[in-house]
Amino acid sequence: MKQLLVLGLAVLAVSCNTAQNAVAKKMTRTDYANTITAAELRDHLMIFAGDAMQGRMTGTEGQRLAAQYLKNYYQEIGIAAPEAQPDYFQEIPASYFSRMKEPVGSENVVAFIEGTEKPEEIIVLSAHYDHVGMREDGTIFNGADDDGSGTTAMLEIAEAFKKAKEDGNGPKRSILFLHVTGEEIGLYGSKYYTENPIYPLANTVTNLNTDMIGRIDPDKMDNPNYIYLIGSDKLSQDLHDLSEAVNKQYVGLELDYTYNDENDPNRFYYRSDHYNFAKNNIPVIFYFNGTHEDYHKPTDTPDKIEYDLMAKRTRLIFQTAWEIANRDERITADKL
Ligand SMILES: [Zn+2]
Repeated sequence: MKQLLVLGLAVLAVSCNTAQNAVAKKMTRTDYANTITAAELRDHLMIFAGDAMQGRMTGTEGQRLAAQYLKNYYQEIGIAAPEAQPDYFQEIPASYFSRMKEPVGSENVVAFIEGTEKPEEIIVLSAHYDHVGMREDGTIFNGADDDGSGTTAMLEIAEAFKKAKEDGNGPKRSILFLHVTGEEIGLYGSKYYTENPIYPLANTVTNLNTDMIGRIDPDKMDNPNYIYLIGSDKLSQDLHDLSEAVNKQYVGLELDYTYNDENDPNRFYYRSDHYNFAKNNIPVIFYFNGTHEDYHKPTDTPDKIEYDLMAKRTRLIFQTAWEIANRDERITADKL
């Protein structure tokens, strides 16, 4: 008798809790940001930068396996391809890769979440998924940081937006997830996209490009809570101010503008895919952790990634995209 009574109370308590959760829990942008986790980033990157991908050199089997991984992921979580590219691949003809010894074709991978109020205005989130391949002796360049980190960050950001959309909190503007190929051999994938845009560049509001966000610059070991931002104020003070405000309110990383300096000899602003958007007067932000001893070496492996830090940086990109997608006014290129 006693035992039965206790059981009855426990069942009652459980059912009350469940009902309360369903009614009272209103998901916020921070809840969605928190679906981006170090553990999930790690799970993706262990595969994406694993040896089976053979270093993802443009035009090789490894690159095609990587493209297929991305496509499968979007299909699994239910994010559609753009109508104009229904199989998720934007094919680039071999003739376009003039700098290769023996030119072969390749493909960008694209997925799309349509905006609820201003679907014609597009935010492009980009990361290159190619890397430099293998040596003849079979040594693999895994490219975990470059740019497995940016690629897998995009997958988690996409999932967070998808969850928001399922709850009726989808972005007001549209988001294109653009995984570009051919970066390491000359920014080809982003160049091809901007010359053959799926959505008009005139309606492309901003490009947020992520290339290497999983490691710590040796100069920053004492204060690893940072990310380098490049380009945010070049075309748009509006974008720069938004980015600063979002970080302050929701994330709290140190935003370091060392490499944003026009006189910096590294000239990183011109060296990754966002530049092809900036050339077309589209405001951009490039997210970057700086170089390190494993940069473009076979030792850029997924076990060396700082996953907690990478998750925090990924949440900054998500929150920034959220703000650009949802605020009333479109970002303006006010410095043109
Ligand atoms: Zn890169």
